[in-house]
Amino acid sequence: MAQAEKLKGYRGIGADVLERYGVGVWSDVEIDSTGGRFEGLILPRSETADDRHIVLKLATGYNVGIAAETIRAIRERGRREAHYKIPEKEFPYDPGKPNVKLLGTGGTIASRLDYRTGAVIPAFSPGELYGSVPELADICNLETEKLFGVFSENMAREQYITLAERIGEEIRAGVDGIVIGHGTDTMHHTAAVLTFMVQNPPIPIVMVGSQRSSDRPSSDAALNLIHAVKAAAEGNIAGVMVCMFGPTSDQYGLLHSGCRVRKMHSSYRSTFRTVGDIPIAMIDRNRIIPLREGYPRRREDHDVTIHAVYDEHVTILYYYPGMRPEIVDAMVDSGHRGIIIAGTGLGHVNKPLYPALRRATDAGVHIFMTVQTLWGYTQMYVYETGREIMELGVTPVANMLPEVAYMKLCWALGQTDDREQVRRIMQTPVADEITAREPYNGYLIYQGGIPEVQDFLRQVHR
Ligand code: ASP
Repeated sequence: MAQAEKLKGYRGIGADVLERYGVGVWSDVEIDSTGGRFEGLILPRSETADDRHIVLKLATGYNVGIAAETIRAIRERGRREAHYKIPEKEFPYDPGKPNVKLLGTGGTIASRLDYRTGAVIPAFSPGELYGSVPELADICNLETEKLFGVFSENMAREQYITLAERIGEEIRAGVDGIVIGHGTDTMHHTAAVLTFMVQNPPIPIVMVGSQRSSDRPSSDAALNLIHAVKAAAEGNIAGVMVCMFGPTSDQYGLLHSGCRVRKMHSSYRSTFRTVGDIPIAMIDRNRIIPLREGYPRRREDHDVTIHAVYDEHVTILYYYPGMRPEIVDAMVDSGHRGIIIAGTGLGHVNKPLYPALRRATDAGVHIFMTVQTLWGYTQMYVYETGREIMELGVTPVANMLPEVAYMKLCWALGQTDDREQVRRIMQTPVADEITAREPYNGYLIYQGGIPEVQDFLRQVHR
């Protein structure tokens, strides 16, 4: 192998260490460092990475970076080039099966690392998906379309509008279900905004992602995809949902309502939780089991109202003790038209903020109160604080989650600037972003992903 290929992506001190021990990329090595012994495959680095680390792929599938200056010895056990080419197989068509459209936006589920360039490459054609998850063909006829290839922190107004419009076109064209591949980080933001932009859909619109990319042994990509495609193809639940791992093991997935769901753990595969309710359904390879009543049912028509408007001049003010009023003034001065406060407890902020909130509402800024506890309702009549804050023109929005309220206000301000109309839009539920009450067991079950806890609770509440 040419020297340049052997050092692919390595420069400076990283390249020096590899040369010193006569190893290079794709060497299978044991490395002794001051931090311990590591065994694995030396991966190429991306051109933009720093020059101080050697990156190893461990047998577990995890990649680790080892600081070059900590390395005491490297022994080469062999060489092994990793191939991540996905076998392309033609997705079979069966006229007896439902038709599902997969719209890709990016994120881990759509990616495998191309170790040569360090870039993330999509695995998204139907052939690639069929090659890696052949079970999908038992469920439906799948068509895919890559709309964007972004990590989900880069989803914003333009993508939301395009996505909503494409969903509308697919529904009118008669697909039986839609799956949206999306990064998990902001999946709940997109799920919320789609709930508002795509109203009264007749079919399931299922968002899915993965916490671990499909080149890792513990990846959740395939199972989440199978569950999501099943929910889209066969499920009787219409509307925007998120479908991800239920418990920490791969026993089942959960279907969450698009505007009651939240990413709750930065790395667990069972990261999505329904907040303020229990999930809509459990799903495995064989069944979809509803966990609660009161969800919209699939219909035979192809009618849907697409309302793809969005004004991003909105911000979330996450209150903390001692917050200073200049923060609010700065939001107003920088042109924000709406503020969602995530207040403490039942919906509170400190008194020094009051004059600034008054200045903001007088300037025509629309301000709504949510709670940073996430569970529970704003209750602004309980304490004097709450009443006073409402008198400043701040409107509580019950048990709407802060991010959901954020997306809804962006959507509302895309329609009108009229104070009363904005209030009415915010306080009138489109789906279940505001509910009349939390179920008595909502806070407990299907929340921790520990089946024993659920079994225990089932017995207690028999
Ligand atoms: N950062 C990624 C994203 O949200 C993580 C993921 O896909 O799960 O796009």
